[in-house]
Amino acid sequence: MKCLACQKEIRVKVSWQNLFREKSYFICDKCYIKYPLDISYQVFPFFQNVHVFSLFNKKYDVNTYAFLDEITGLLSFIMNKFDLNKNLCFFFDNVEQLLEYEDKLNSLKDFQCEIIAIVTFL
Ligand SMILES: [Zn+2]
Repeated sequence: MKCLACQKEIRVKVSWQNLFREKSYFICDKCYIKYPLDISYQVFPFFQNVHVFSLFNKKYDVNTYAFLDEITGLLSFIMNKFDLNKNLCFFFDNVEQLLEYEDKLNSLKDFQCEIIAIVTFL
């Protein structure tokens, strides 16, 4: 397995705890420290509230898929908190991209849904 952030081979120490576990690793320990996740939550007040979760507190030039485990955990949290059968969840690279879609998100007001946005960084 290669780290999706630095492309170097990921070495996993085999122990009794993980001997029979088939787990995929997407990021090495060094990159995990280099690009610290700082998940935050805020509500953007345009039109109806837009719930915004961001992964980092600043911009990193890193493949976001390296954090697939963490994003999956965040999605699991969101799915427990919001009913995704009634609400909509979108991914955006950054908050500027989210704001570019403000009109389109506003056009969804007739659906009586809440909008959840996950952005890589604010
Ligand atoms: Zn790495």
